[in-house]
Amino acid sequence: MIRPICRMGNPILRKSAQKVAKDFLKSDDLGRLIEDLKDSMKHYGGIGIAAPQIGVDLQVAIIELKGFNRYGENLDLPLQLFINPELHPLSEETQGFWEGCLSVPGLRGYVERPSAIRVTYMDETGASKELEARGFLATVLQHELDHLHGVLYVDRIKDPRLLAYQEEFDQFIKERAIE
Ligand code: ZN
Repeated sequence: MIRPICRMGNPILRKSAQKVAKDFLKSDDLGRLIEDLKDSMKHYGGIGIAAPQIGVDLQVAIIELKGFNRYGENLDLPLQLFINPELHPLSEETQGFWEGCLSVPGLRGYVERPSAIRVTYMDETGASKELEARGFLATVLQHELDHLHGVLYVDRIKDPRLLAYQEEFDQFIKERAIE
């Protein structure tokens, strides 16, 4: 089911989400939440979505990059589900991308984050998983995982001048951003 997106200002986006308990993994509620996340992400055209964005206080997020090309990187990540994910930076090095967010519609902002990370998480069966990511995927993962801890990308913009409306971004910044 497509759920309405909680936007910046909604307090659910500002609190740390609850960890998913092991006995919740087999529940219909979790299955429904995952379906709702998928439906909502597809409907609103996101590449990732976290449970608090549809008003659910749980550490669950999904990401899907299908034949996705941005900043000269070809990314193909089939739908991935992250339950209780933990982030471990693998590098002191940072990289910057212009980010957008379904919960902050119409805007883009330039954010620098660690360029290589490892994420440990659970899948829907409760198995421990691990994923290493670099480049744009590392940024997408950090953006989504931030949602599980009450952080929005706008909090991480170092220079507030690097925040723009999507239309102005397309008109004035895009070409430079992709270089
Ligand atoms: Zn977001």
